[in-house]
Amino acid sequence: MRPTEHGEVWVTEDGGEIDQDLGHYERFLGVTIGRDHNITTGQVYREVIEKERRGEFLGKTVEVIPHIPDEIKRRIKNAAEKTKADFVLVEIGGVVGDYQNILFLEAARQIRFDGEKTVFVHVGFLPVLHHLGEMKSKPLQHSVRALMQAGIIPDFIVCRSEYPADDVRKDKISMFCNVKEDGIISNPDMENVYELPLLFDEQKFGEKVLEKLGLEPKNTDMKEWKDAVARMKNASKNVKIGIVGKYFDIGSFKLADSYISVIEAVKHASAWCGARPEIIWIDSKEFEKNPAKLSELRNMDGIIVPGGFGSSGVEGKIAAVKYARENNIPFFGLCYGLQLAVIEFARNVCGLKGANSTEIDERTPYPVIDILPGQRKIIEGKNYGATMRLGGQAVSIKPDTVAGNLYGKDSVTERFRHRYEISPQYVETLEKNGFILSGSTPDNRIKQIGELPKLKFFLGTQFHPEFTSRVTDPNPLFVGFIKACLEK
Ligand code: GLN
Repeated sequence: MRPTEHGEVWVTEDGGEIDQDLGHYERFLGVTIGRDHNITTGQVYREVIEKERRGEFLGKTVEVIPHIPDEIKRRIKNAAEKTKADFVLVEIGGVVGDYQNILFLEAARQIRFDGEKTVFVHVGFLPVLHHLGEMKSKPLQHSVRALMQAGIIPDFIVCRSEYPADDVRKDKISMFCNVKEDGIISNPDMENVYELPLLFDEQKFGEKVLEKLGLEPKNTDMKEWKDAVARMKNASKNVKIGIVGKYFDIGSFKLADSYISVIEAVKHASAWCGARPEIIWIDSKEFEKNPAKLSELRNMDGIIVPGGFGSSGVEGKIAAVKYARENNIPFFGLCYGLQLAVIEFARNVCGLKGANSTEIDERTPYPVIDILPGQRKIIEGKNYGATMRLGGQAVSIKPDTVAGNLYGKDSVTERFRHRYEISPQYVETLEKNGFILSGSTPDNRIKQIGELPKLKFFLGTQFHPEFTSRVTDPNPLFVGFIKACLEK
């Protein structure tokens, strides 16, 4: 998944690399979702073909129908059983009518036909054409028709639009689409996306779904959620965060989705501190073309250098880290951000001229960031797919450090996605010069957090703390960073 086309790659606790939508589900539901909750066409076909090769169909004809939908259904049930779920929410991605999801729709049709309790919710788009000043329901009518061709009649229609669906539109949709009016749910753009569950609750969406499924509502108290949303709405201070990245531009549009979990983690932590974040996108390649632009960083309350791969834009990011360090602007480095902070410190403080990561320069005289030993073979065998060091891993935290004080415990689990590490050979040099390595693997072999405690806030993590941040429970490192930004 290329970030500029598909958005961020979400990493699950158990090491799956999947579509960022799963991140939204974790954030909104507050549950940890495993990799088998992501079902793709590739997985399904591979499984059916391998089963056939193993002779598991016993001489039967193997065909797309029924074997592909059967495998999809098996996977859905398997995910449900493993999590002992009360009910399963299945999102079929894309748009009705896509070639890519037709067999998933067929599986959904069969699940109802098999006698499972099911509710079908169709999310349709209602464009508002500004020069006409009208909300149009025609595209939705057509998508419902396409859904019916797949043998599925929706029980609910969610009206996704810039504005709320009014009664006139609801009437019309109800009549044309064969859904009773109380099954038409309004889903307008919201200033704050976390208000959406409250809007759905006002429309009794959850209760109506449960009623159709014959299930009793378990807990309708949304107090914690309401409090979190109120904190966001009532935030009185502003905090300006510059994100120095490179996966932004796609044609004439900027794509913030590449760093969606970072943005959400900043929002959660800012609200916790009573602040409203303003996020400024900074393309690190700009600093390479025009170094004078670096002085614009002075206007930021804090700077984040997020994760990344390869050499493009790297020198610009290193220049931004240097600027943050020299001007004492709060800095937070995430994965590549930590590695680049180490390179910058090695070059400009430890005097290791030309220090680099072997990911960028294999012949660097000072490989301060080097391939993880376990990853070397994988690279040599060109076995790149899903073979990084992935998912939740234990991190031991040194007490009385910035990280130790923020976490308030000596061990945490955070999520990783990398091939390179701080080379153990340079740890002593770094620490002697004041770069404190405050987190490591439990065996102390791989260093996982680095900090400069004399500065207002200068900290980097080998993991991605943005993946464990929740609306009602922000990640402590993000909270520490935002607090420092507010002090600036
Ligand atoms: N490219 C670096 C590595 O593989 C950092 C990865 C990241 O930022 N997720 O180690």
